[in-house]
Amino acid sequence: MNNDKNDLLSIIDNNEEQNSVLKEEQLIPVESLLATGRQHISYSELHDWIECPWRHKIKYIEKIQSDSESIHTIYGQHVHAGIESYLIDPEKKPIDSKLFIEKWHNEIIPGFISRMKESNNQKAIDDYLNNKNEFDNSFESIFEQVPVWLELTFPGWELHGAEVKLFENIGIKKDRFFKGFIDCVIVAPDKKGVKKYYLIDWKTTSWGWSFDKKTSFEKQLQLILYKHFFAKKYNIHLKDIKCSFVLLKRKPPKLTPNEHCEKIDVSVGPKTETRALELVDKMLAHLNKNLFPKNRNSCKFCQYKNTKYCP
Ligand code: SF4
Repeated sequence: MNNDKNDLLSIIDNNEEQNSVLKEEQLIPVESLLATGRQHISYSELHDWIECPWRHKIKYIEKIQSDSESIHTIYGQHVHAGIESYLIDPEKKPIDSKLFIEKWHNEIIPGFISRMKESNNQKAIDDYLNNKNEFDNSFESIFEQVPVWLELTFPGWELHGAEVKLFENIGIKKDRFFKGFIDCVIVAPDKKGVKKYYLIDWKTTSWGWSFDKKTSFEKQLQLILYKHFFAKKYNIHLKDIKCSFVLLKRKPPKLTPNEHCEKIDVSVGPKTETRALELVDKMLAHLNKNLFPKNRNSCKFCQYKNTKYCP
């Protein structure tokens, strides 16, 4: 997509199937774009905006990306790739841990360390070295456990899709879209034998999530929106869709040392759904009005704190 505000036209993508997704070839007038240069928003963008609209402005409008690469992101991507290889394999062969571990040691880690050295980011290297064993030695147990866990949790499951793309109109707004990718959507019968859709977002973590994190609305918002827009895309009733985060633990707590997977259900009733969509509307309204208040309660871990962008 062309992000230059001076350009008259931008290319955006589309999905004819739902008549709500933009075609890549389609040209749209720049005046109908958001201040971010896009027609869509994503959950991560919304999350940044909720934390601090000023931060959202720096990151998505001024495009000052100061987020450094992190070992956690790289590790998460590699675990996701391993699980996806299993999900899309029609024969459901066990995940080839050895292959993924070799790639981790021979390509991913050397590349990461070299990039971090180039950018003088010793902290990122230390983050890896301080937990090296935990990162390096967890692939095998997670990859072994996920297929078993899926079978036990969703007997008779079938894959609907991995990395399922959402690009749906927001409400009745024809030129505003919500974009997201759902890690895994499976279909399985519930206890009464009724077919249900299960939306899963894998989250890699060290030992798990605190109670506060598990019950945080801001965290759950991701799946609330995924469920809403998935239902809209495929015209499925909300009651037939369940959604969960699945924690993939590198080092499970001592009480449950062998439980690398934990499902955290997110229930989405009409009130929660309305609350989530109101937040989306509020964000769009603020963007339209160029309102970017600073939220000083979110400064503690902000990457822009005490920089020229937010002195
Ligand atoms: S430092 Fe605080 S006010 Fe500034 S962008 Fe970050 S969160 Fe917002």
